[in-house]
This record gives sequence, structure tokens and C-alpha cells, in this order.
Amino acid sequence: MVDLYQHRARKRFGQNFLQDMNIIDRIMQAIHPLRTDHLLEIGPGRGALTQELLKEARQLDVIELDQDLIPLLNLRFGLNPAFHLHQGDALKFNFAEISLGNPLRVVGNLPYNISTPLIFHLLGYADVIKDMHFMLQKEVVERMAAEPGTGDWGRLTIMVQYFCQVEHLFNVPPACFTPSPKVDSAIVRLTPYRILPFPAKDHKLLELVVREAFNQRRKTLRNTLKQILPIETIEQTGINASLRPEQLMLADFVKLADKLYDYKQSYKES
Ligand code: SAM
Repeated sequence: MVDLYQHRARKRFGQNFLQDMNIIDRIMQAIHPLRTDHLLEIGPGRGALTQELLKEARQLDVIELDQDLIPLLNLRFGLNPAFHLHQGDALKFNFAEISLGNPLRVVGNLPYNISTPLIFHLLGYADVIKDMHFMLQKEVVERMAAEPGTGDWGRLTIMVQYFCQVEHLFNVPPACFTPSPKVDSAIVRLTPYRILPFPAKDHKLLELVVREAFNQRRKTLRNTLKQILPIETIEQTGINASLRPEQLMLADFVKLADKLYDYKQSYKES
């Protein structure tokens, strides 16, 4: 029998392992896995969630970066035909390659140090994902679920809300983990829209406009967007260029991105 605790938690891999069975149960109730689901867990660690997911899953792919955890995971779950282990970096993982027509249900108590880039990476695969349940730093979940006009409304909010419905499900205190993190955590459900409520002509341009606008969030659009859109062009959208980015709704950013698209097209044609 392998002693699971011989493995020393590593800070650089954002390792805070779940140890509270009540919270694990609540997470499982929120996920509610079905036998027909294709589940994918990011960062299984020592297997606290993996073990519960395998009670239902017909297929569970897991991606773990820490090589030292691989023998332990194989020993615990390797004989289960539903279990497929990928050793590697979830930030570089091609989620489309494994979905094979059955949209993925993605799950993870994510390493907090890479959670934002990982969410952006996953948004690129929104069309092969059915839903995502993540444990994240509470502040990150608050930013994802934020309303316009608040200090939390920013680049992460807009890009996540462009692709997904966001539900802040419940908070999780530090004592539920070993070692305990210094911050509060929360569970979020992200459900990619099958039909986007505000589709942009090119979502890469939406990303560009949002990034530029929030680079200096205290400044007006007139200042932050001047490198990419002339002020008259901004105002043709009906949006006041003296506004600051947090005063705009998602639909306004889409209007600006579409204007930028048309502006670029007119340049190409002339
Ligand atoms: N799921 C386990 C649990 O709840 O106890 C572990 C969660 S721990 C917060 C995060 C896990 O993600 C660790 O096992 C860590 O090694 C793994 N990890 C860190 N960076 C990763 C990456 N880039 N790709 C895949 N896994 C990663």
C-alpha cells in the first residue's frame, strides 16, 4: 500500500488538497455526473475528487502536471477502465482532441496560480465543453460573476460572460484543504452558451478591445482605445467615448469590436 501522504504538497503546482468530505459531497451534488457524461478533471492531485467522479463516470480523463503524483494515481485508479491519465500541462492541452463528439464536463480544484490563463485557454474550446465546475480563489469567482459598474467588472468577467453563463455556487473556507490556502475559495459553474447572446464578428477583436480598454481602467475609452479606433469611429456606435470601461456592458464591447472589424475591412478594401 502506498502512503498517500509521502507525497509532499508543492507550492509551485498550487497544491492544496481537499480533505473535507462534506465539501467533496457538495461539489459532487453540484456536478451531478451521469453515466453518459465524458468527464475531464484538471489537476487530480491525490484523487480526492477523482475517486468520487469514478463512481459514476464511464469516461474520466485527468490531466496532472506533477510527475510525482502519477504512480500514486495509477495505483489508486489505474485498473478502472473509465480512468485515462494524461501527464502534462493543462495550459497546453488540446481539449478538442479528446472530446470526440461527446462534449466534455470539465471539473477541477484548480491550481490558483494559473487559474486565469487556464480559464482563457478553456474558453478557446467552449464549443466542445458542456459545462465546467471549478474551485477557485473566491475573488476570482466574484470577478467572473460581476455586474457592470462594479470594481470587479473587467477583462476576465467580460470574456467569461461572453462565452458562458456564470453561477457562483458556494464558498469554501481554507480549513477544507491541506495545506490550507491563505485565501477563501468558491465553487463556480460555467456553462458555455450554445447560441451566444451577443456574438461578435471576430471574438479575437473583442479580446483586443477589452484588453486595451481595461489596461488603464481609470481612463476613458477615448484615451485607451485611440491606438486601435479613432474617436469618431467609437462614437458612430452610439457609445460615449468619455465613458470608462467599467461603465460599459458586454453588448457595448461587442459593438466596439464589430466596429473595429468593419474599420479593418474598409482599410483592406481601400
Ligand atoms: N484535485 C485535487 C484535490 O482537490 O485535492 C488537487 C487540487 S490542487 C489545488 C491542484 C492540482 O493541479 C495539483 O495536483 C497540481 O499538481 C495540479 N496542477 C498544477 N498545475 C497544473 C497544470 N498546469 N496542469 C495540470 N495540473 C496541474
